[in-house]
Amino acid sequence: MATVTEKFARPQVRQTQCFIGGEWVPAASGKTFETVHPATEEVVAEVAEGDKADIDAAVKAARAQFDGGEWSRMDARDRGILMSKFADLLEEEADELAALETLDNGKPIRDSRGADIPLVIDCIRYYAGWADKIQGATIPVRGEYFTYTRREPVGVVGQIIPWNFPALMVAWKWGPALAAGCTIVMKPAEQTPLTCLRMARLAQKAGIPDGVINVVPGFGPTAGAALVKHPGVDKIAFTGEGSTAKIIQREALETMKRVTFELGGKSPNIVLADADLDAAVEGAHFGLYFNQGQCCCAGSRLFVQEKMYDEFIDRLKAKNHERKLGDPFDPETEQGPQVDKAQFDKILKYIEYGKQDGAKLVTGGKRHGDEGFYIEPTLFAGVTDDMRIATDEIFGPVLSVLKFKDVDEIARRANATNFGLAAAVWSRDIAKAHRLASRLRAGTVWINCYDVFDAGAPFGGFKESGLGRELGEAGLQAYTETKTVTVSL
Ligand code: NAD
Repeated sequence: MATVTEKFARPQVRQTQCFIGGEWVPAASGKTFETVHPATEEVVAEVAEGDKADIDAAVKAARAQFDGGEWSRMDARDRGILMSKFADLLEEEADELAALETLDNGKPIRDSRGADIPLVIDCIRYYAGWADKIQGATIPVRGEYFTYTRREPVGVVGQIIPWNFPALMVAWKWGPALAAGCTIVMKPAEQTPLTCLRMARLAQKAGIPDGVINVVPGFGPTAGAALVKHPGVDKIAFTGEGSTAKIIQREALETMKRVTFELGGKSPNIVLADADLDAAVEGAHFGLYFNQGQCCCAGSRLFVQEKMYDEFIDRLKAKNHERKLGDPFDPETEQGPQVDKAQFDKILKYIEYGKQDGAKLVTGGKRHGDEGFYIEPTLFAGVTDDMRIATDEIFGPVLSVLKFKDVDEIARRANATNFGLAAAVWSRDIAKAHRLASRLRAGTVWINCYDVFDAGAPFGGFKESGLGRELGEAGLQAYTETKTVTVSL
């Protein structure tokens, strides 16, 4: 990933309207909503507030491209070439995109420029390579028949994303959908619509035909719900809260839409006593505090084997004291503000729960500074499984550290949750780590590392953490239908 050394200037916001059928248009209602820079609480843009009428227009444009439009007739290889061009343009504008992401979300520029945007480019490039490699199979059947399968695009897809990795979520959704030959109506999160809109402009510049990608900013219960209910949409791909996914699942059932869900987690990060202490401390710190703790896969239940526990807490405490909070445009800043006031309040409430439930506050526990939604890196020791800070997804810089005795105990306790998104194991005994990994009910297990993502590696949740997978070939297949063709010989 790229290293950032310069201070970035605050960017100009250019796109704030809906992007429908290749045109920039205001919301049909004329309404707008504000987005705020979370470090200063200043309004940075007035954005079109799309609703049902805008979703209708966007679905119509996407439908026209899918049902016989230029996109549907384009060779798969040419689709891939346009996607590669799109990736090149994203690379050319990487600085500007990263600055816009930092403005809208508040994440430090060292992360947006160093990690998020490079991963965005990589994801689009990865899926560009897949466009002409989507293959079916020939099937041996009884009788004088020849049977084969085709993988065909699922159709018009509605994509609804959250605010924690705004541009990266766009790439995870657009990459496989475009490669498969689908057309798109996206509703970005109301807190962070700006990079998505900018990316739509770059997709158009790359030559992706108008109407293939449509973006309708707006709110969940209005624009989001209209997309989910729309009979012209074949699939909903959603990332966000489990409670929202359940509403969507019920609505989508009416028209039998395909759904994929990437939801929350309370991921166990397990440190065995034979782990490399330096690496495990680094991984535990990074695994939780990265992105202000606003990661679905955050290692928010840190289990440390009892022999190493006290030293581990001391080391984590020292690291938290060194952590640099500040202006997210400064390359030295490691931690920025939370995305908005609602998240900020929710996190502070959980910190109070931690104290009330009897956990020991080791670092942090309060607001940092008096401007912006900053919260100190917070560390709780002496946490037990039943405390609210150990059961609920907090989505903030609050690390709960729990103690365990042996491997059987930790396999049981780590799985004692309705979530199942990610987990990690730290040990020098690699065979033991593999055995433990096989017992963990999670879609991703990292061994001696944390938050390692690659466009080729599938990601998604067991249990209530999701349905289906994103990334890799599995993520691509989720945008296709299988058609079986049988020929009488
Ligand atoms: P959220 O569910 O409130 O919102 C996500 C998106 O859904 C937003 O665009 C929102 O406008 C929209 N939405 C809200 N209500 C809707 C409705 N009734 N119909 C249609 N759309 C609706 O989630 P959030 O608070 O923005 O995001 C945080 C959550 O997302 C956390 O739980 C986190 O774990 C999860 N998340 C998961 C992953 C993953 O890959 N598994 C990645 C990022 C975030």
